[in-house]
Amino acid sequence: MSTSSVLLAFVLVLGAGFFALNVQRLVRYMQIGRPEDRSDHPATRLRNVLAIGIAQRKIFRDPVAGPMHALIFWGFLVLTAGTVEIIIQGFSAAFSYALFLPHWLYQLYAFSQDVFALLVLGAVAFAFYRRLVVHPRRLEGDNLEHADALIILGMIGGLMVTLLLVNACQYLVDPATIGPEKFISRGIAAGLAPVDAHPAALMHVFWWMHVLLVLVFLNYLPYSKHLHVVTSLFNVYLSNTSGPGQKGVMRAMDLEADVEQFGASDVEHLTWKNLLDGYSCTECGRCTAACPANFTGKILSPRKIVVNTRQRLMEKAPVVTGDRMEFLHPALVHGEGDDAGAATPEQALEHRLLDNYISELELWQCTSCLACVQECPVSINQLEIINEMRRNLVLTESRFPEEIQPAFESLERNGSPWAFNPGDRAKWAEGLDIPTMAELAERGERPQILFWVGCMGSFDDRAKKIAVAFARILKACNIDFAILGQEEHCHGDPARRMGNEYLYQMLATDTIGTLDRYQVRTIVTSCPHCFHQLGNEFPQLGGNYEVIHHSTFIERLLADERVPLRSAEGERLVVAYHDSCYLGRYNDVYDAPRETLKRALPVLSLVEAPRNRDRGFCCGAGGGRMFMEERQGKRINVERTEELLATGAETIAVACPFCMTMITDGVNAAQSTVPVLDIAEVVAGQLIS
Ligand code: SF4
Ligand code: SF4
Repeated sequence: MSTSSVLLAFVLVLGAGFFALNVQRLVRYMQIGRPEDRSDHPATRLRNVLAIGIAQRKIFRDPVAGPMHALIFWGFLVLTAGTVEIIIQGFSAAFSYALFLPHWLYQLYAFSQDVFALLVLGAVAFAFYRRLVVHPRRLEGDNLEHADALIILGMIGGLMVTLLLVNACQYLVDPATIGPEKFISRGIAAGLAPVDAHPAALMHVFWWMHVLLVLVFLNYLPYSKHLHVVTSLFNVYLSNTSGPGQKGVMRAMDLEADVEQFGASDVEHLTWKNLLDGYSCTECGRCTAACPANFTGKILSPRKIVVNTRQRLMEKAPVVTGDRMEFLHPALVHGEGDDAGAATPEQALEHRLLDNYISELELWQCTSCLACVQECPVSINQLEIINEMRRNLVLTESRFPEEIQPAFESLERNGSPWAFNPGDRAKWAEGLDIPTMAELAERGERPQILFWVGCMGSFDDRAKKIAVAFARILKACNIDFAILGQEEHCHGDPARRMGNEYLYQMLATDTIGTLDRYQVRTIVTSCPHCFHQLGNEFPQLGGNYEVIHHSTFIERLLADERVPLRSAEGERLVVAYHDSCYLGRYNDVYDAPRETLKRALPVLSLVEAPRNRDRGFCCGAGGGRMFMEERQGKRINVERTEELLATGAETIAVACPFCMTMITDGVNAAQSTVPVLDIAEVVAGQLIS
């Protein structure tokens, strides 16, 4: 074995060994989190890795940075093969993939090496330009974060340059080894030829530079926010944000088991997956750019939530696991939390995620709109951390905005978040000849459909009109349906979103008892929050029903031509439809409400707000925000309504009673007279009778 080979073996073992030590350290840190099983649905998870990880589906949602990042990622995949070949050549100079690959495949491989090296170089140059010249708002960060990004970009650029130079020198040494497919290397060789008379020596230098750079890059990653290079594919596989777990479904709490700590006030109360999310964050800021709270000037930033979680882990885990903190790169520790930063072991133990890194105010500003989760290119679930921390605030520390206390009390006493008399729940239906489940059961009958009215539809004056409109459609189509009447009460979703899992489980369990007593199979509802809760979260507690949102139900009736409609005449009506987060992002129902509008009103011209469908902007009511004051920044509903009004719409259509309230308030704030109608009201307005 030559001296050079021995040296290479030594350097490789050293580099790989140090990297393995770091990986092992990070895994140990992650294990201070709570256990969670993510081994289900391997096929779906693998599909996510292919679509989101390898094909970079979510990365392309950003038309500028997306292609740039995808190029770097794909380039890395392709060029890793080239780097392995180069390293093996360090032991055996004659080694080449050409020895065993079919000729055409080797040519393709050789071609891809040159082309991708150049493309990645171009992408790196563009990334430098964005960071140093354009300064996009979502990439804002402190000096350390910028330095970290520039170091990584510099190393990626260095890897590409040295790779091309090794090939170019190789061509000068032995032209037969570099075919015409590596035309870029050949071109560089042509430029080098007159400059240096010792291509073999030069190749040796570039070769060592490339190998050392690979090892330095690999070992820098665990100390950098670019750790995601290593973790993101694993994170996508283990994520539940794109199936197999349904998006936005909250983790059920075992209230019997979790007696000492409800929810999370520190990193060890989160799951290992939440902590892996922290390792995987690229700090791209896409989540924060999409966050309605942040957009309207509030301090909540989902990026900060995830970065702070990682920073706190890096502060606490070394102490808890007995590691020494000096090993840590400041980029992983310093950051956006007020008290974030290198701390003594004593301070590290005194600190906690809540208050020292993440404030109560931030947590209560979240509307649970899921935009952050939707946008994250590496399938991080920022909302899960927020929800767990809200649970701790409410159940462990009794800290929450004072205005939600009445909602909790009313849910407990009256079965609705408002202090209405439960006896008035079915008053909206008086005179409409709608049977209750109890009445039908007395006659030994069971309807095909249960119309779940919801608390808004039952008590809110404006939403009651939506309930009436939907009931009129059902009757006009001769649908066999009933309501629960006074036996209906809130399923507890607002309590769950506001962190009160106890109250939620109490209300939900009771509701399931009622539904099962009547052997309910199919439920329709005009509220996306009820739709999501009954359909997606009730199964956690043993309630399994087919739940259909009224947009889908009406669309099916219209498609089957069962709805007796007047023929629409007159001027075209310009309508803008506002997507509800719990219908759209949570459940991917985007077309049904639009189709319903188009089918019911052929004279309608549908216009879209700039932020629509899965990029839709929240109305501001979700996550219990409906019951809280909005004390900081611009009101979210005002921002959204201005955007809808700017489309020139003559009517704004919604498919959610919460959106109805928020957008109507927004229209009033804008002193506009544009009507806001639920899609059921649009259809009911066209009924023949
Ligand atoms: S769920 Fe919505 S409001 Fe909450 S942090 Fe994410 S983007 Fe912001
Ligand atoms: S959480 Fe996801 S979207 Fe947000 S900054 Fe991190 S990687 Fe980007």
